[in-house]
Amino acid sequence: MKSKKFFLLNAIFAILVASAIFFVSQKGFFNRLELASLDLFFNLKKTSHANQKIIIVEITDADVASIGNWPWQRSWHGAMARALTSFGAKFIYFDFILAEPASEEADALFERELEANKNIYLPFAFTTIPYDYQKAILPYKKFLDNAGGIGVINIMPDADGAIRRIPLIFNANGKTYPHIALKLAADYLGMQIKTVKPDCLVLSNGIQNLSIPLLPKETMLLNWLGKWGTTFKHYSFLDVLAAYKDVQDKITPKININDFKNSLCIVAVGAVGLVDIKAMPLEPVYPGVGVLATAISNIIDKNFFYYPPLWVNIFILYILSLTPLFIVRGERPLRETIQLFSIMGIYFAINFILFQNRIVINFSYPLVGLITNYLFFGTYNFLRVAMEKQTFFKMSVTDGLTGLYNISYFKILVETEIILSKSNPDTTFCILMADVDHFKNFNDTYGHQTGDMVLKETANVIKNSVRSTDVVARYGGEEMIVLLRGASLRFGLSIAEKIRRAVENNPVRSRENIHHVEMSLGVAMFKPSDDIDSIIKRADEGLYMAKKTGRNRVCTLEDAS
Ligand code: GH3
Ligand code: MG
Ligand code: MG
Repeated sequence: MKSKKFFLLNAIFAILVASAIFFVSQKGFFNRLELASLDLFFNLKKTSHANQKIIIVEITDADVASIGNWPWQRSWHGAMARALTSFGAKFIYFDFILAEPASEEADALFERELEANKNIYLPFAFTTIPYDYQKAILPYKKFLDNAGGIGVINIMPDADGAIRRIPLIFNANGKTYPHIALKLAADYLGMQIKTVKPDCLVLSNGIQNLSIPLLPKETMLLNWLGKWGTTFKHYSFLDVLAAYKDVQDKITPKININDFKNSLCIVAVGAVGLVDIKAMPLEPVYPGVGVLATAISNIIDKNFFYYPPLWVNIFILYILSLTPLFIVRGERPLRETIQLFSIMGIYFAINFILFQNRIVINFSYPLVGLITNYLFFGTYNFLRVAMEKQTFFKMSVTDGLTGLYNISYFKILVETEIILSKSNPDTTFCILMADVDHFKNFNDTYGHQTGDMVLKETANVIKNSVRSTDVVARYGGEEMIVLLRGASLRFGLSIAEKIRRAVENNPVRSRENIHHVEMSLGVAMFKPSDDIDSIIKRADEGLYMAKKTGRNRVCTLEDAS
């Protein structure tokens, strides 16, 4: 079980990670990820219907082939304005900037329509940042003066070049200019801009208000209504003019002219090579006029996205960043991974349902918080469990007092050595059995603690006298046993003698005394007929002989010649 303090430390770490993620998110670090998740939601989202009163009159390839190269004489636009007005269009917008005068006669025809109807809208474009009305591309003066309204045509793509939002107002020379989409939609609704706040723009007709939620830089997130071609009603330029002529000639027109009653008509160029192409979440190639029509439709139908206040996003970030603290224990990785994916799935589903209901939450950085902390706690716990296992293993094979291996582990290693030596006649090994001489005296004279210290020091001396490939273990009491890998009897005897001398020459210092220690050792070399007990027994007999013949010496029962 994790202690409370440990849990608290982890929680503090998780909170620090979340705070760092929040900090970098505010610097725009996750913008691309956020855009990608927005696009995913847009592609999965059920689209709402486009406003059917918005009609696009498209100048098609066929129209350009029949009428001639673009730009056309303005008399054609005059004719279009007259036709649409006669069909009952409420507003007509020409989606191209007629900046310069052309043929005087043709221009005059268009100008006459502008003057007569006062419902024809024209765009202009800012060319500099900061915006400057003096440097903007405006309609030719006579058109400008007679236009029903004008608005800005500029669109701001996101960092990846795709269009997802549209700027609703532009501040230039101390004045506020509406985007043409806002201007058309507001006029269609009979409303005017009342106030602009950082998070919303309010339209009003004096009785009712309409609040449009804003993202930074006075932009509105577009609620896409579908792919081009299936979204808005559109007709070709010449088909509309043909219908007008049919009505004049009292022939039933080929298109349903009732569609145009009270409509907002956008006349735009759709011919290949002339059309203004944008990328948007649903389609990489989408005409600019579609962006405009979508914006107008969104405003008229109040089809906006709403953004909860920042603290909601922060709250979600911290909740998700703290979640791994409760699921990651490092003990059941599969279950924990399944839990992580379930939480991610639920989080995605909740976000998607909210998005479907036009509520946009910052999806990506809370997810980054969740995954970062999951990976951190996962790795941390994995290492902790691995280290615990290693500690347990070490504890299970070592002797607590001397730090040497215990006898059961020693026996496992000797068994392996026996198998190796039996399968390969060239391999052999020796077993040394060592016992401190008169050890009882240390206990009796100086107490058990000193006895323990002598044991510990003697164990160290033995360990330092053998190679790293040799194994030293505590047999029990003050007896120690050594496996010398690959050792002949001669080599075994020399190492035993080395140990004996080292013990003799390394007196153990306690606070008050210097204790001289001596050891007796027995040596046995492996024989093919040996098992573990027989070889240990022979080493023990060697030891016994050493004790009997005076102590502080090395003996073997085997023939050392
Ligand atoms: P010798 O081997 O030379 O015949 O004499 P000895 O005094 O060493 O004799 P013996 O083997 O009979 O005594 C061993 C003593 O070691 C008995 C016991 O009190 C002591 N002993 C065994 N294990 C420990 C231990 O872990 N710590 C301490 N301090 N003493 C131990
Ligand atoms: Mg002894
Ligand atoms: Mg003993």
